[in-house]
Amino acid sequence: MNLADSSTLASTLTTRGYRRVAEEAEADLIILNTCSVREKAEDRVYGRLGEIYKFKKRKPHLKVAVVGCMAQRLGPELSQRVPHVDYVLGTDRVFELPDVLEGLEGTSPIMTAFGHENMDLIEPIKETPYSGFITISRGCDNYCTYCIVPFVRGREREHSDDYIVDAAKKMADEGVVELTLLGQNVNSYKYNDTDFPGLLRRVARETGIRRIRYMTSHPKDLSKRLVEVMAEEPKLMPHIHLPLQSGANRILNRMGRIYTIEHYLKIIDYIRSKLEYVSITTDLIVGFPSETEEEFELTLEAVRRIGYDSAFMFRYSVRPGTTAARYADDVPEEDKIRRLNRLIELQQSIAYERNQREVGQVRESLVEGYSRRSKEHMRARTDGNKTILFPAGDVAAGTVLPIRVTSADAFTLHGEVAGVH
Ligand code: SAH
Ligand code: SF4
Repeated sequence: MNLADSSTLASTLTTRGYRRVAEEAEADLIILNTCSVREKAEDRVYGRLGEIYKFKKRKPHLKVAVVGCMAQRLGPELSQRVPHVDYVLGTDRVFELPDVLEGLEGTSPIMTAFGHENMDLIEPIKETPYSGFITISRGCDNYCTYCIVPFVRGREREHSDDYIVDAAKKMADEGVVELTLLGQNVNSYKYNDTDFPGLLRRVARETGIRRIRYMTSHPKDLSKRLVEVMAEEPKLMPHIHLPLQSGANRILNRMGRIYTIEHYLKIIDYIRSKLEYVSITTDLIVGFPSETEEEFELTLEAVRRIGYDSAFMFRYSVRPGTTAARYADDVPEEDKIRRLNRLIELQQSIAYERNQREVGQVRESLVEGYSRRSKEHMRARTDGNKTILFPAGDVAAGTVLPIRVTSADAFTLHGEVAGVH
């Protein structure tokens, strides 16, 4: 979502006559769009601000803006802590940066009040000429006890289905092949009578977009109908990112996640019974307050049983102001690290095994360009959202090709183009 917001902000600035430069050293304005979800993300922003200070010393007219979640969370405290920050704009005010830069009436260098967001300012954005994002809802109403997002991004609010369908049509006309619909919990999307499966169906049937993805699903709101729509609409890519967080019911309950592991497993079984091919990915947290070794083992057991294609795995990080911040952060750091390493090791072996199952299959893949390592290979994204490398040929980025998987490791598939397209 931050990537999408950054691109939207960049395009807003370009429309107002600003020009993007390749190097920080050339810039007259540096913007950091920030994340607060874990302490480490905020530490990195302080690190970056330290580096930027060098530029500012050499070039006093350089302006520095910190926008997004960390700006929202800290407000004026941020510019007190880091005096060379000129602008601090919270999550509802990000897209007003051009107005602030021009000193328009009613703006000020530090703005974090909620309720000022103009959803119309949030232009859908093309990440590349052939792929795009549309934020369907902003904010979150879930209050998972560890999570800062509802505090820094505010209550959930939705774009209308008509707005989203029109934006998708416009993107398709401009050549976008793959579209990702974004929200903290897309499954709770509701605009008048349109729910999320209804929205997906409209985008699939009424627009020329060929490949549709979405992020993120909350297990408590994922409906059977969503899975059925995915099974019925070939344009919906067979990938579901379904954060589990923990395999222990006591921890899930304390996290405020509302579902049990048994319910989650039922959803997984249902998905796999309806979709012939699907890749399933997740987010997991280890070392949540009071998590015992046995409860951590339950997470390992769930991960083994479910067989994720990949996972984002995190050590619990205290976020001030959240409910969990009132619990004792009592899992020692070395235990958190050990648990995380064990989990990563297990997940890697599972990802390897899952990827081996793809060998021999043909997967419709969207070419993204050359491999990062060499021009001998090109990189594409499979329908299941995996990276696949294949020998470079005369194909342009943005082409969709059937690629036969010939080998795989835990992170990447390798293959060759299957037949002429
Ligand atoms: N809205 C999405 C993503 C939220 S943030 C969802 O509900 O799934 C992305 C991930 O960061 C979360 O799924 C969680 O695994 C992790 N995360 C959030 N807060 C965290 C914290 N305080 N410590 C460690 N990981 C956290
Ligand atoms: Fe955070 Fe939970 Fe909302 Fe996701 S659903 S953003 S984890 S509060």
